Amino acid sequence: MRREVLVLGGGLAGAAAAVHLARAGRDVCLIERTPGPHDKVCGEFLSFEAQGELRRIGVEPRMLGAVPIQAVAVEAGRRRAEAPLGFEALSLSRRVLDEALLAKAAETGAEVRRGARVTGLVRDGEGWSVEVEGQGRIGARHVVLATGKHDLRGWRRPDGRQSDLIGFKAYWHLPNAAEGTVELHLFPGGYAGLEMVEGGLANLCLVVGRAGFDGLGRRWERLLSHVLRSCPGLRVRLAGAEPCEGRPLAIGRIPYGFVQEGSDGLWRVGDQAAVIPSFTGEGMSIALHSARLASSFLLAGRGAEAFQRRLARDVRGQVRLSTLISQALVAPGAQAAAGWLLVPPVLRWALWRTRLPETARRRV
Ligand SMILES: Cc1cc2nc3c(=O)[nH]c(=O)nc-3n(C[C@H](O)[C@H](O)[C@H](O)COP(=O)(O)OP(=O)(O)OC[C@H]3O[C@@H](n4cnc5c(N)ncnc54)[C@H](O)[C@@H]3O)c2cc1C
Repeated sequence: MRREVLVLGGGLAGAAAAVHLARAGRDVCLIERTPGPHDKVCGEFLSFEAQGELRRIGVEPRMLGAVPIQAVAVEAGRRRAEAPLGFEALSLSRRVLDEALLAKAAETGAEVRRGARVTGLVRDGEGWSVEVEGQGRIGARHVVLATGKHDLRGWRRPDGRQSDLIGFKAYWHLPNAAEGTVELHLFPGGYAGLEMVEGGLANLCLVVGRAGFDGLGRRWERLLSHVLRSCPGLRVRLAGAEPCEGRPLAIGRIPYGFVQEGSDGLWRVGDQAAVIPSFTGEGMSIALHSARLASSFLLAGRGAEAFQRRLARDVRGQVRLSTLISQALVAPGAQAAAGWLLVPPVLRWALWRTRLPETARRRV
């Protein structure tokens, strides 16, 4: 049977698109390769904008145990600057959040197939043919591509402006918790974010340049020692802390700065459409916004090309500026030069300019 819409990938973008389309009565089938709840490399900071998108879908992060964050702190060596966020952010593990969205998609009427991996995608006349491991081919009129950080074979995204970073994420039991504050610690070759999530755990998420990681023998223990040597504030936080797992989750070749311009016929959403550097905490907001925008264009009978151009216009400025800042943060000598970010008005300006503007969100 040919489906009207196949959504490939059930992260935030895919699940949100499935909810919006199913709610409008469309035939939607979502295919997600993981069989159940799972962790992801993500700082898990939910911006004001992301929270608004979640509420539209009918998911309330506070009801799922999200913890509030009111301030941001940046540390470079012994210098620290702190500023109020100007809104209340929330922090919630992706293990919980992504499941809530997938449950909402199923409840809304979408068919959700778990433990099903897409292995092929080809054009088929006016529509598409999708190969799912162990399940054969499924035909569809429209395909929403939402595989996030992972590219399908033959559909690789081009590199972003900063594509040489590797991301790590690990949970810690923390005796010296940073309640209510998200901390950004700069170290030579990268930066690390620390914030509390539900259940009294702290999420330590960091990115480091590939060359720097190679120089540390590609070993997590050596990278962590390097980070703690360079970040006295983080050293204090992690003193006596216990990691929850032996090894962190990792993701390579993150295409920071990538923005999909134009369309190849697919409806690309989330990280398949744009990748903003993680220090902004705005990736999930863009993922959710792109899903709502794609759904509204598809429901209105407007093409993927028009959607993709409009999304690029919405996010291009923020992605470009954030990538420039991210490049500056990992450049040699960045710690000494990062003084500008430690000036609270500059920090507030950077916070504001790297968010998805309200005008873009309202126009959908
Ligand atoms: C280091 C780091 C820190 C970050 N921190 C934050 C933060 O604090 N706040 C924030 O807002 N954003 C943050 N982000 C960005 C955020 O994680 C992403 O923007 C967001 O997850 C994008 O959602 P998505 O749905 O597009 O992709 P994903 O969340 O990656 O979901 C894609 C889904 O597709 C599935 N999939 C992949 N391939 C296949 C396949 N072949 N078949 C079937 N299913 C498949 C995967 O299993 C996955 O569930 C961070 C990113 C990084 C790298």
